[in-house]
Amino acid sequence: MKIRKVGVIGAGQMGNGIAHVCALAGYDVALFDISKERVEAGLATIDGNMTRQVASGRITEADRDTAIARIVAAASMESFDDTDIVIESATEIEEVKRKIFAELCPHLREDALIATNTSSISITRLAASTDRPERFMGMHFMNPVPVMELVELVRGIATDDPTFETVRGFAETLGKKIANAEDYPAFIVNRILLPMINEAVYTLYEGVGSVESIDKAMRLGANHPMGPLQLADFIGLDTCLSIMQVLYDGLADSKYRPCPLLVKYVEAGWLGRKTQRGFYDYRGEKPVPTR
Ligand code: NAD
Repeated sequence: MKIRKVGVIGAGQMGNGIAHVCALAGYDVALFDISKERVEAGLATIDGNMTRQVASGRITEADRDTAIARIVAAASMESFDDTDIVIESATEIEEVKRKIFAELCPHLREDALIATNTSSISITRLAASTDRPERFMGMHFMNPVPVMELVELVRGIATDDPTFETVRGFAETLGKKIANAEDYPAFIVNRILLPMINEAVYTLYEGVGSVESIDKAMRLGANHPMGPLQLADFIGLDTCLSIMQVLYDGLADSKYRPCPLLVKYVEAGWLGRKTQRGFYDYRGEKPVPTR
């Protein structure tokens, strides 16, 4: 199947990044969210990010202008009636995604594909809530989408080979590299990354090191570009906690228990960069460790 038009549901940080890379790769894009304002905010972010790419010489002004012109704001799900694939990237709540699929499916062409960008919800379970489990799969982009090279491809139990091959080819045309993951909790990247972050929080909790020494140790000692606590603030501590919970519940193994200190930060509303406070306080000129 040839992909020409892509629908994107959710214009938040991931959805607008997905629309961005699809439009730059030459696809027509319809972008949808719960309100016109949110779609417009997504479009403004795309414009800003592409303008930065122009400034750094990665794309030309003409590339930006043509790509922006390819993205239309979808006023309703009816705009998806001529899309070849819809990528769902709405809020990470299963009920929200199920409702979206129930509303979306009647508007889609029979042969249209659905991909979800979920970080942790079972692809097989989401697929079962649609009218096309065989044409449904996971397409897990990394944040920020225009910068990060990887997409994890995840088949549900029913995903058929033509769907998988089409989505693989499509992801490659977006300039992405592929890693195949089976449909188990948190797939590959988060299955490995989040326990490391959780362990860094335990290291802090037990007083083995301060925020500064833990991040410095991993940057200089393991050659990580960013310390684990700095990375946790970037991902969002609520997201980190919910992925640990998915691993803990889904694999029923105590080694995935979320650190009580991580829970405490989330309860305080200290969620990282997005709330200006997490393992670092971002309200001043320079981030200051909070422990
Ligand atoms: P976000 O909060 O920035 O954006 C979510 C968007 O979905 C919001 O704009 C919201 O208004 C919209 N939305 C909610 N309900 C909707 C509905 N019924 N119809 C249409 N739009 C709706 O979140 P995000 O970080 O962009 O995450 C989106 C998805 O991407 C989640 O499934 C998440 O797990 C996944 N993901 C996130 C990351 C990350 O690092 N943030 C990485 C990979 C995958």
